[in-house]
Amino acid sequence: MKTFLVALATLATSYVTAQVPNTTKMNNFINALMKKMTLEEKLGQLNLLRPSGGVMTGATTSSDVEKKIKAGKVGAVLGVEDVNQVKALQEMALQSRLKIPMIFGLDVIHGYKTVAPIPLAQSCSWDMPLIERAARSAATEATADGINWTYSPMVDIARDARWGRIAEGAGEDPYLVSQVAKAMVHGYQGNDLSKNNTLLACVKHFALYGAAEAGRDYNTTDMSRLRMYNEYLPPYKAAVDAGAASVMSSFNEVDGIPATGNHFLLTDVLRKQWGFDGFVLSDYTSINEMTKHGMGDLQTVSALALNAGLDMDMVGEGFFNTLPQSLKEKKVTQQQIDLACRRVLEAKYKLGLFDDAFRYIDPQRASTEILSQARRAEVRDIARHTFVLLKNDSQILPLQKKGSIALVGPLANDAVNMQGCWAISGEAKDVITILQGMKEAGGNTTRIQYARGANITDDTVFAKRVNFRHPDVVMDPRSPDEMIREALEATAQADVIVAAVGEASEMSGEASSRADIGIPESQRKLIRALAATGKPLVLVVLAGRPLTLVEESKLATAILYVWHPGTEAGHAISDVLFGDYNPSGKLTTTFPRSVGQIPLYYNHKNTGRPSPESSPKHRSNYLDEAIAPLYPFGYGLSYTKFAYSAVQLDKKSMRPGEHLTASVTVSNTGNYAGEEVVQLYLRDVVGSITRPVKELKGFQKISLKPGESKLVRFTINVNDLKFYNSDLKWVAEPGAFNVMIGANAEQVQTADFELLAK
Ligand code: BGC
Repeated sequence: MKTFLVALATLATSYVTAQVPNTTKMNNFINALMKKMTLEEKLGQLNLLRPSGGVMTGATTSSDVEKKIKAGKVGAVLGVEDVNQVKALQEMALQSRLKIPMIFGLDVIHGYKTVAPIPLAQSCSWDMPLIERAARSAATEATADGINWTYSPMVDIARDARWGRIAEGAGEDPYLVSQVAKAMVHGYQGNDLSKNNTLLACVKHFALYGAAEAGRDYNTTDMSRLRMYNEYLPPYKAAVDAGAASVMSSFNEVDGIPATGNHFLLTDVLRKQWGFDGFVLSDYTSINEMTKHGMGDLQTVSALALNAGLDMDMVGEGFFNTLPQSLKEKKVTQQQIDLACRRVLEAKYKLGLFDDAFRYIDPQRASTEILSQARRAEVRDIARHTFVLLKNDSQILPLQKKGSIALVGPLANDAVNMQGCWAISGEAKDVITILQGMKEAGGNTTRIQYARGANITDDTVFAKRVNFRHPDVVMDPRSPDEMIREALEATAQADVIVAAVGEASEMSGEASSRADIGIPESQRKLIRALAATGKPLVLVVLAGRPLTLVEESKLATAILYVWHPGTEAGHAISDVLFGDYNPSGKLTTTFPRSVGQIPLYYNHKNTGRPSPESSPKHRSNYLDEAIAPLYPFGYGLSYTKFAYSAVQLDKKSMRPGEHLTASVTVSNTGNYAGEEVVQLYLRDVVGSITRPVKELKGFQKISLKPGESKLVRFTINVNDLKFYNSDLKWVAEPGAFNVMIGANAEQVQTADFELLAK
């Protein structure tokens, strides 16, 4: 049904949904509409509510939502996942006086009903077209259910694996996360927001949310402007530059002011410096939570948020309930309210909702798009590109499709924990388990003997906390010894043991920080017992964060790190274990040896007493731990081997405005066709401020057949050498630079050049 706004039919002649909306037409339309709006109706547009049944990520629920929608007091809703419910709610919105349609938001974080790997895993593909494809696929599927706004991408830089939300981002590096941000925004929004298969992206959490002290969620962040501008802000800016239609403020404070009420962030940086022209929403009740931060009562913090530049209030209703009083008291202005309202209406216009409020609502489309075979095939392919091979002694992998395999571990025959955190729309019944996948792939020629071997954890208090939303951790009534005994029996006839171990889905994600990021003790006991058999032991590790794996890395013959791979987990894992796909993932976070090393990241600064170059005693290190990571940023093996030539530069110096070419020849010297992520790092040797020991500035993913070589070229120009100096000016300083190219942040070949002043 076309539901053109009858009440407004005279206001504009046609609302053509061109690729870029005609601004004059849009403005005329919105001006005319806003002239008719009361203060309450305008505030209604700033009100985002969660109807009953949706996902809750805080203690507050919305009440009387349907009544409020009909009264024009709600601009958007979140958390509705059923096309018929979307339709019913939109019909209610059209019963309001001005019949303004609502936006339907949802956390489509890594897929919708067909779940793709968690975002951190996707980043390990280092494959931007693939990441864009994953976002495109998620958008197509979610829009088929009436959703037209996703709270993604999350681009918070994370250097602390204790923080559970590290799973939702793209790792620790500003350059790489910026590339991912861009790819995801393009994937979600396409080039025409009014198409019924594109949705509004929302970059989050602005800003610095990943730098929470002690890795504890929602905690304080405090950092210098230099670190902010050089390391933490670039990905948000990249998403804004890519055209992200909305931005979500974060829960944390920045410089003593919660982000949701932070004028410096929401106006000075976002609007004035970056030119963002979309709308900004709070996180879940983050306006209200500013009272707990000690910023005043609800009226005060709501006014603070509006004055800071926030446009929409998620669930808290502080805007709706208190801004009229603040307006009377001149604590906010009508212009500010109008501007926020206009920004929300513009988003609706761009979505084409004034043309057809039901353009995203088509139950027929839902029945063909959702969980289709093609979509499953797509997430299977995406998943296998995200696995990182950490160890492969004696080339034990790939496995042969013959003989006998013992498949053990609490995650080996588990459907609930394959999808990871924030897979709110995915259902366990649709998931392929590892056991299922391996049986299918192994066929008649391979015998697979399964045993559970251990609980995910034996700690019932911990399990209860993990299981807050749904029972991810199911306790087997048998004793740990009995389960290990059964696992050992399963290994008796086996040629090789595959153990699927790691974290349950909800052990990472929001409010899932961990102080100990090891594999739980119940599983470690199992791993020790399996290793003691002396048989080759392949660990398939599922997790939402880097885990500390020092002991496991010694005990296992091979480790395949598969994160939480999504709906097609079992198929994708089997594809890689049996060599139907050669792993090509590389880490996008440094893997620490122990929690005590955190924060540990490759692009750190040098100290004046670097280790190991300095004195045996007075140097920057630990008495009881190495300072090197267990696995560095950029690391990941393949079933084949790659050799790198020395780095060639086409010149030894360049002037501003010129560029320079750095190249290496990469050869596949092994026996399998494979893909390699060739990484370019730069170091500014001397600066007006201290500079990182290296920074990623480029990468290329190449495919090579056995025996094949390719020349890989990187163009370096002056922009690649720029950074924010003490005056927060983005400059390149003349002087010496190191160029490093290699397979990971540690294994590089180096050459030098000079940037001349002119
Ligand atoms: C999270 C956001 C999410 C929102 C809506 C919050 O708790 O921090 O990332 O988008 O809930 O579900």
